[in-house]
Amino acid sequence: DAAPGTHFIKAIIEADLAANKNDGKVATRFPPEPNGYLHIGHAKSICLNFGMAETFRGTCNLRFDDTNPTKEDVEYVDAIMDDVRWLGFDWDDRLHYASDYFEQLYGFAVQLIEAGKAYVDDQSAGEIRSNRGTLTQPGTDSPWRGRSIDENRDLFQRMRAGEFEDGSRVLRAKIDMAHPNLIMRDPTLYRIRKTDHHRTGDAWCIYPMYDFTHCLSDSLEGITHSLCTLEFENNRPLYDWVLDNVDAPCHPQQIEFARLNLNYSVLSKRKLIQLVEEGHVDGWDDPRMPTICGLRRRGFTPESIRGFCDRIGLAKRDSVVDVALLEFSIREDLNRRAPRVMGVLNPLKVVIENYPADQTDELDAVNNPEDPDAGVRKVPFSREIYIEHDDFMENPPKKFFRLAPGREVRLRYAFFITCTDVIKDATTGEVIELRCTYDPATRGGDAPDGRKVKATLHWVSAAHAVDAEVRLYDRLFDKANPDEKVDGKTYKDFINPKALEVLKGCKLEPCLADVGPGYFCQFERMGYFCVDAKDSAPGALVFNRTVTLRDEWAK
Ligand code: ATP
Ligand code: MG
Ligand code: MG
Repeated sequence: DAAPGTHFIKAIIEADLAANKNDGKVATRFPPEPNGYLHIGHAKSICLNFGMAETFRGTCNLRFDDTNPTKEDVEYVDAIMDDVRWLGFDWDDRLHYASDYFEQLYGFAVQLIEAGKAYVDDQSAGEIRSNRGTLTQPGTDSPWRGRSIDENRDLFQRMRAGEFEDGSRVLRAKIDMAHPNLIMRDPTLYRIRKTDHHRTGDAWCIYPMYDFTHCLSDSLEGITHSLCTLEFENNRPLYDWVLDNVDAPCHPQQIEFARLNLNYSVLSKRKLIQLVEEGHVDGWDDPRMPTICGLRRRGFTPESIRGFCDRIGLAKRDSVVDVALLEFSIREDLNRRAPRVMGVLNPLKVVIENYPADQTDELDAVNNPEDPDAGVRKVPFSREIYIEHDDFMENPPKKFFRLAPGREVRLRYAFFITCTDVIKDATTGEVIELRCTYDPATRGGDAPDGRKVKATLHWVSAAHAVDAEVRLYDRLFDKANPDEKVDGKTYKDFINPKALEVLKGCKLEPCLADVGPGYFCQFERMGYFCVDAKDSAPGALVFNRTVTLRDEWAK
């Protein structure tokens, strides 16, 4: 791909502007169907459409493509607006609904009928499908294709009036049943659906199809560049046909780009709905989900998602993006911004026997080595502390440099300690406590005699610790391409059982006692974390791990 920030769509728009096409205006739109929550693939489209408008001082509309009442809901409308705003984009007063155009769309359909370019077909959906022909075989004309304009106008009006049952009739474009592009073989423009619509209620019982609605909505809004994903390439001739055959206000240019595919993920609303409805995840905003609200709850920032969309660029051919790039984007952002604190996820108690029971030291800790302005804080140290269970081994192998019997290590910002004794559970034999001594001369982390230690451990003072639940998240699927069909398995068979691990009784630094939703930090050595926006409460903190410090999957 070209240099960051430049791509073929930008080049097209630049050329159009140079030629003063569209009177030098750029107008785009983001057109979600409110039938599910937005995912990271939609973010690509949002960043592109709003981004091009920003770059060229144009406008970008938010338009709900709400022509399929059976699958749509206001819950989704609200969630989509939330997500677009959270990503950092603003449609100002340019909020539209395709359903607002129902009357105008009806008028355009009547124009087609009156020009002899649309007809009411009484065939069933199945008959229409089987009479469409194949790539090598022309289709068969409907027996109703020859209806007079008057009869078509009358029947279409009666379809609208509710005289006919669902599925009994449709309105079709009269194009060419032998057209090499199957989409052009008299596509359906309207169907009967006696279903209430979330905005228009029972005002309509006929609803326009996507291909008819989309181009006309674009035209009514004065869109100049209608950017969509590659699967609509075959629909472009129909987009143009409709606009060419009615009295449309303008003729936007449809340009296709490759949709985002992400490994270890599925990005299809239909599949994401299944994951939610079948309880494989805990809702649309489950932090394992590739939805915008899931990523947000997981601790992704809008900056990281926009940065990711920049980085992946824009291509004309489908490809699969490595989810490691998304993880890299959030790591990079949080490395700059996240305060460092200490949190012990799997605590092992350490008693420092030569440290007085009634004493507390206040040690200086750096808040963010990447940000000098972030300053320092005081961390209390006392006779009993917690360290990470994994940072101790009774019989360490050669390359294990952390704590072991008789060995000295550094406690971050504090002292050197040496392990003198190991206490075990009498029945299980499990290590439950360590006895250590500390060297008061090493305060701050260095020995005056210059002796070295090979490891620095994070720790939390037991008397001062704040308890928390910590949820460790990982990739939702453990297979790079969960959509690949092998042995009749589906993506649901590849859900990663380790994608969520819940740890209770974690011990955090006391400075975290009062943090709430919106707070994020790095637990030193353990990764980046945020306060869970739903389940965390004062006195009962819940943290989510956003991402580990390194790519653990690359090993
Ligand atoms: P899905 O396939 O997940 O159901 P959709 O395309 O049906 O998505 P829409 O609500 O119609 O969902 O999408 C709104 C816009 O977002 C469309 O312009 C669509 O092309 C774009 N979009 C959807 N998925 C992706 C993706 N994976 N990558 C880039 N753009 C996408
Ligand atoms: Mg769609
Ligand atoms: Mg879809």
